Amino acid sequence: MSGEPILRVEALTKRFRGLLAISDVSFAVAAGSITSVIGPNGAGKSTLFNLVTGYLPPTAGQVFFRDRSITGMPTNRIAELGIGRAFQIARPFRDLSVAENVRIGALFGKAGPRDVARTTRDALALAGLDGLAEEPASVLTVGQLRHLEVARAIATRAELLLADEPCAGLNPTETAAMIDVLRRVRASGVTVVLVEHDMPSVMEVSDRVLVLESGRLIADGTPAEVSANSQVIAAYLGTPDAAQDP
Ligand code: ADP
Ligand code: MG
Repeated sequence: MSGEPILRVEALTKRFRGLLAISDVSFAVAAGSITSVIGPNGAGKSTLFNLVTGYLPPTAGQVFFRDRSITGMPTNRIAELGIGRAFQIARPFRDLSVAENVRIGALFGKAGPRDVARTTRDALALAGLDGLAEEPASVLTVGQLRHLEVARAIATRAELLLADEPCAGLNPTETAAMIDVLRRVRASGVTVVLVEHDMPSVMEVSDRVLVLESGRLIADGTPAEVSANSQVIAAYLGTPDAAQDP
């Protein structure tokens, strides 16, 4: 894992009327890492992704991709720079094949030269979907749809992938398969920021863990450091592991 930060967030704040959804949050994500963001429901995890991808403007603070401020940039511009997002609710073109869905990602996304066929093939392989490439997306299981969503995001040639609860609602086998996909994504050189509730998966796959509670960053460290942090343990007491966003 290289030490260069690919993403840096400085004093980021998002207020929804009276609610501070993200409050003075600062951190950096090392290129080539898997960084997980954990925290109870309503902690601000999805809002953080919305701020990084430009879906929402911050109330205050800055977001840097590599050394460039992307604060306030429109979402398509941020995607063209190389930040991809895997949505939890995949909405594929159900009548198109799996490969055609991924190809759409390859046609858009990051600016610059591309080999659409090759990018599509590589993204399908990374997501473990090669065997289903010619099937219509409508035949995919929920777990396979999540893989398709990752493949589509990777096909945009993103250098940073944000995955918001890619394992939510998946069974243990499907969860393990998704974690394997994320490992392969990292191995391919793409940095991953993951929101996940399944603590064994988080602790196993993450190089680094950020803990949000009520919009504040209460811990930032290795899985071992974070799981030994008394504030983190307190924040999780009484919080069911199975808690998931709607
Ligand atoms: P998490 O993903 O950690 O469960 P969210 O980021 O979705 O949390 O939400 C953080 C807080 O911000 C919650 O209280 C939520 O209701 C609120 N919130 C999120 N998005 C909006 C929005 N667009 N408008 C108003 N409040 C929002
Ligand atoms: Mg969320």
